[in-house]
Amino acid sequence: MESPQEESAEAHSIAQLDARLIDCRACPRLVEWREHIGRVRRRGFADWEYWARPVPGFGPVDASLLIVGLAPAAHGANRTGRMFTGDRSGDVLYAALHALGLASRPTAVRADDGLRLHGVRVTSPVHCAPPDNRPTPAERDTCRPWLARELQLLQPTLRSIVVLGGFGWQALFPVLAAARRWEIPRPRPRFGHGARVELRAMDPAEPPLHVYGCYHVSQQNTFTGRLTPAMLREVLTAAARSADLSVS
Ligand code: SF4
Repeated sequence: MESPQEESAEAHSIAQLDARLIDCRACPRLVEWREHIGRVRRRGFADWEYWARPVPGFGPVDASLLIVGLAPAAHGANRTGRMFTGDRSGDVLYAALHALGLASRPTAVRADDGLRLHGVRVTSPVHCAPPDNRPTPAERDTCRPWLARELQLLQPTLRSIVVLGGFGWQALFPVLAAARRWEIPRPRPRFGHGARVELRAMDPAEPPLHVYGCYHVSQQNTFTGRLTPAMLREVLTAAARSADLSVS
C-alpha cells in the first residue's frame, strides 16, 4: 500500500476514501495495538470478532455538520468498526444527537444496529485505536491526509464542525490547512468549551465554515459533570443551526 498521502489523494468519493482507509497500515505501533486488542479482547466481548482495523467516518457523505473526536476506543469502535459505537462516549454523543432529531436512535451498539445520522458525519483525526487513547504526534501527522481528504470531499455541503476535546482541536487546524479550502487564522484559535471560529472559504463564492469546541464526551468528563448532556446539546444545536439543519 502507498502512503496515506498518496492513497487518500486517489480517492474521488467518500466511499472510495473509506475503502482505502480500512487497509491502512502506516503506523506500526497502532497496527500492532489494534490487532493485539482484537486478539486479547475484553471479558464480556470474548465472543466478538473485533474489527481491529482503521475505523472510517460514519454518516452521510453529504453531511453539513461534522463531529471530530480523537481516535477509536480500543473496545468501542475498534471492536464494532463504527465511530463511537459500543462504548460509553458514544452513548452520550448519540443520545444527544437523537434528542435533537439528528440520529434515528439514541444508542449505538453495533455496526448493523440500524442507526442513521441525519446531516451529520462523525470522524476523527486518528483512525486507529492508540494505547492509553494517546496517539503520538508522529501518528497524528501520519494520519492527517485521510481527514484532510475527507474534508475536501465533504466541502460542497460542509458548513460546521464540532471538535470534541483539545486533542482533536489541536489536530484539526493543521488538517484544515492541509485541505486548502478555508483560511486559517494566525495565531491558531485556542480550544475551549463553547469556542467558536468562523473560517472564510478560499473561494469567495463558497460559504464559511463554523468550527465549535466542545469538551470530549469521555467518561472522565461526563461522569464528573464537566460535560453535561445539556452542555453537549447546546453546542450541537448551535453547530446544527450554522449548518442549516433543523433541530428538535
Ligand atoms: Fe493509517 Fe491512520 Fe491507522 Fe496510522 S492511524 S495506520 S495513518 S489509518
